[in-house]
Amino acid sequence: MKALAKEIPASTLDTDPVSRLRHGHGHTMMEIHAIHEGQLQRVPDLVVHPTEESHVVALVTAADTHDVVLIPYGGGTCVTEALLCPTNEGRMIVSVDMRQMNRIEWIDPVNRLACIQAGAVGRHIMDSLAEHGFTIGHEPDSVEFSTLGGWVATNASGMKKNRYGNIEDIVMDVRAVTARGTLERFGVSPRESTGADPRRWLFGSEGNLGIITSAVVKLFPLPEAQRYGSVLFPSFDHGVRFMYDLAQAGQWPASVRLVDNLQFQFSMALKPAASGFHVWKSKLEKLFVTKVKGFQPDEMVACTLVYEGTEDEVSGQEKTVARLGRLHDGMPAGSENGRRGYQLTFSIAYIRDFVYKLRVMGESFETSVAWSDLTTLCANVKRRVIEEHVRRGLPGVPFITCRVTQIYDTGACVYFYLGLGSEGVENPIQAFMEIETAARDEILKSGGSLSHHHGVGKLRQRFLPQIMSETAMTWNREAKDAIDPNNVFGCGNLPPSPDAAEGAKVGEAA
Ligand SMILES: Cc1cc2nc3c(=O)[nH]c(=O)nc-3n(C[C@H](O)[C@H](O)[C@H](O)COP(=O)(O)OP(=O)(O)OC[C@H]3O[C@@H](n4cnc5c(N)ncnc54)[C@H](O)[C@@H]3O)c2cc1C
Repeated sequence: MKALAKEIPASTLDTDPVSRLRHGHGHTMMEIHAIHEGQLQRVPDLVVHPTEESHVVALVTAADTHDVVLIPYGGGTCVTEALLCPTNEGRMIVSVDMRQMNRIEWIDPVNRLACIQAGAVGRHIMDSLAEHGFTIGHEPDSVEFSTLGGWVATNASGMKKNRYGNIEDIVMDVRAVTARGTLERFGVSPRESTGADPRRWLFGSEGNLGIITSAVVKLFPLPEAQRYGSVLFPSFDHGVRFMYDLAQAGQWPASVRLVDNLQFQFSMALKPAASGFHVWKSKLEKLFVTKVKGFQPDEMVACTLVYEGTEDEVSGQEKTVARLGRLHDGMPAGSENGRRGYQLTFSIAYIRDFVYKLRVMGESFETSVAWSDLTTLCANVKRRVIEEHVRRGLPGVPFITCRVTQIYDTGACVYFYLGLGSEGVENPIQAFMEIETAARDEILKSGGSLSHHHGVGKLRQRFLPQIMSETAMTWNREAKDAIDPNNVFGCGNLPPSPDAAEGAKVGEAA
């Protein structure tokens, strides 16, 4: 620590125990449970808050010289155990909190580019760019807390990716400090063919290769029009067919989400109670949907949409949605329900903490899957969760629900929510983890990806041998060894450890 203090200002060093605890975890159910139960096994020994890149360079050099581990920290919102300190690490561990490096370095309005420091939080980026009439369009549900550097390091995806792209489409250049020096290029071109690009390795690097200090991102003018929409469908199958046709039709709304029946019912339960005239209106609407349209309350589903663009683009998107909605027996349900659907997404993060106190454990996990496998995958995962629950003799019924959140030409991203009652369960977190692992196993068996955007971390590392050839894993391992020979970035997320294959069997047995 003395050696570090010589290199960067003492004011950036933080040994406060609460701060160290806060920097030693992300947001998986297991981590939240460990904090509640006082079971977090290791936290960083020191937190550093660099305010400029020279501090990061000094820190990496000092860590390399003095055999110290650095774990980059953005908003701490990851859901893969990526920020957990490896318990078998004998060296000092330093968490590098990047949030003081949060400035917009420059904006080029002509070429629509901006250079932003990696610790800038999503909400701050949105508000600052909006003052100049721009957006980067990246809005993960964690936008209030997550950072640009974290987005690159996890290969994140925002809810409006249909219009603006995923993080790898938005970021044009990345600057990072590694144990081998600073990774940078001179100038940003719209596209290049200049051989393999080391900067691309940083996407999904999960703190394993270096510290991202800034990125050049694309700018989009703030949309002239923004509207919400929603459509009800008689069943999940109807909704998926609609989503498929919408994906093939082009003219995509900025966001389109399809929730299954359980999630639809859940959102109805959370709707504020109607009063006065609205009670009658609400009753009439329900009668119309169930009696006139013949939708079954325990089968119907809802799709919510955000339209963005010029007035012409938005009305074109609305017309496409209306036409395809009719084609699949959908019924327009208004913009207010659409807006509320998106608000619910933000509140779900807080609901998890609330229900935990009521002895319910909850988590979301995601995948991406080809259109042809989507409905089977959803059904398989739900069935497997129920079977695993019954097999363990756990009380009550599991809450397992899904929604389709991002569309592609070839498939879509699917989010699951899992909730289990923990009252009277001897080791509830173990049961929860086993069932979640079984669900992931089922996702892979059903043709889904290991992750669409959350990443691998430590949570899913055991599954890597199932999705990568030995050659691919060797590439990753050897690249890591070459870039970081002393394992300064020893967070233990990637590449897979040699015994990761052994771990995969846990999922199968669960
Ligand atoms: C309620 C909730 C909603 C979410 N919604 C979404 C969503 O819509 N889309 C989505 O993609 N994800 C989502 N996530 C997951 C999470 O927000 C993302 O993974 C996010 O990109 C993490 O960013 P962060 O700044 O919080 O990084 P952290 O959690 O701090 O770190 C994540 C990983 O990145 C590394 N890292 C962080 N900063 C740097 C840096 N500057 N240089 C190098 N490595 C770094 C860390 O070491 C760690 O391995 C959600 C999470 C929650 C809790």
